Amino acid sequence: MMKLEYIFSFFKSEKNYNIDQLDPQPTNSIEYGWSWILQSYGEFGLFLIFYLSMAILYALSAIVFYFFDKYKLFPKLKLQITKYPSSKDIKRCINNLVLNYIFVILPLGIVSFPFSKVLGMSYDLPLPSVWKFLFDIFLCLIGEDFFHYWMHRFFHTPWFYKNIHKEHHYYSAPFGFTASYAHPVEVVFLGIATFAPVLIIRPHYLTFYTWFVVRQLDAVLTHSGYDIDIFPFNFMPFYGGTSFHDYHHKEFTCNYGSRFTYLDKLLGTYKEKSK
Ligand SMILES: [Zn+2]
Ligand SMILES: [Zn+2]
Repeated sequence: MMKLEYIFSFFKSEKNYNIDQLDPQPTNSIEYGWSWILQSYGEFGLFLIFYLSMAILYALSAIVFYFFDKYKLFPKLKLQITKYPSSKDIKRCINNLVLNYIFVILPLGIVSFPFSKVLGMSYDLPLPSVWKFLFDIFLCLIGEDFFHYWMHRFFHTPWFYKNIHKEHHYYSAPFGFTASYAHPVEVVFLGIATFAPVLIIRPHYLTFYTWFVVRQLDAVLTHSGYDIDIFPFNFMPFYGGTSFHDYHHKEFTCNYGSRFTYLDKLLGTYKEKSK
């Protein structure tokens, strides 16, 4: 009993988040909403809300691309023009996703929750400014891409490819849902690469949790099979995006970065998009 109480103590909020007693007080609706969630559900409740938001936004964004495919809405933007997923493909992918989200990603998040406390990141007001928030997200994108590149190359060595990474390459023409379609071991490593820049930057919790949502949405985009250049990411230098990663699924031995092309170009593993 004592042991359980000891474990639960790691998930209790460290502070009193009663809005009336906050100093400084919330000054806008986002700060008020943030404070209200902390007051109502505590730090762990906030984590669960972001986890659910990530899963829901992943599903919604993948469903948008599902309709692109189902009704062949934008054939000119489609990268592998003749490759549309079958209902069997989609079912296999969703089965894997549900298992990964429940048995790998959620437990990983819960286990990481107490550890993130030692990083000294803040829940406090004021929330970061828009520019600080965007800059930290940008640093996370760069950092994750770096760790992902090396991890991904490692997963393409014969044993790891055959036993782990091959699962993610089941689809040579990816579609939105396939972003997190992977062997559970790979999902753990992907999570570590996503967490790694946070260890260095230690941003505000708002930025930290939003970063995981951004990472998932970017992965849905890069696996969507559609080269859409209106998204803000596309204006970043060296952003390879969907055509870059789609080509990795098609050709296997090139384009190991998550989204940026600079490391592949520097290290001779870059190949032009399939268009
Ligand atoms: Zn992929
Ligand atoms: Zn690969």
